[in-house]
Parts: sequence; structure tokens; C-alpha cells
Amino acid sequence: MTLFLGAAMVAAAVVIFIIQPVAKGIHASLERADDELTETEARKRVALLALRDVEYDFLAGKLDENDYRSLKGELTAEALAALEADENARSQVGSVGSEDVEAEIRAIRLGLHEGSVPCPDCGYVNVTGSRFCSACGHSLQAGVAG
Ligand SMILES: [Zn+2]
Repeated sequence: MTLFLGAAMVAAAVVIFIIQPVAKGIHASLERADDELTETEARKRVALLALRDVEYDFLAGKLDENDYRSLKGELTAEALAALEADENARSQVGSVGSEDVEAEIRAIRLGLHEGSVPCPDCGYVNVTGSRFCSACGHSLQAGVAG
């Protein structure tokens, strides 16, 4: 029990740690205002980016499975909540089906799990089928064949 609580607290701290710099990045790009990001869109983006980072870190071996699972659970919940809020905000102007929400999450997951090969040497995430790391040139075959 205590162990679980401790792990959950660490996970929460890491989530905050991960989200903060991303949130600042979003904020910075918000000031450029390429395409008007609403508050809910920004929140959604932060959550999805954080979720992606967790996936990358796990694939790159930087997170152990426990951390990965709790982080992913928290971030998925946050992403879904943000997507829902965004959808509600949009529904006042246009119409967005709830399928879009799930499709978006699914696309990210598929892209990460089936469309990427993390470099065993530097951690760079390469496209599936790559034989060598685009970042450092390390052979990806050796790492994959396990
Ligand atoms: Zn590499």
C-alpha cells in the first residue's frame, strides 16, 4: 500500500515535471498565434504532447514499466478530459464527433507503437523499417532482434 502510494506520488510529480516545460512551450507558441489556439486546444495539446513524451521515454528505455503505466494512465485521463472539453467548446461553433477524440488518441498510439523504432544507442525514435538511426547512424537491427 505504502509502496503504491509512494509510486503514485512520484508519478504525479513526474507528470507535473513533464507538463510544465511543455506548457511553457505551448504558451510561447501561443504568443505567435499561428492558428488561434483556444484554451481547451492548448490544454489538449499539452496533454497529448506529454503522453507522446511518455511513450517515447518508455520506448527509449528511460521509464520503467510501472512509471510508464501510471504516467500513461494519468495523461490519458487528462488528454481525454481535455479533448472532451475542447469538443464541448467547439460544439458551440461547429460539430465534432466523439469519434474524433478516440481516433486522435488511437492514431497517436498506433504511430508510436507500430510506426517507430527507438535507437538503442541515443534514444532517437526512428520510423519503422529504418535499418540505421537517423540521428547517430547506430544499427537498429541489433537492438530489435532480441
Ligand atoms: Zn541513435
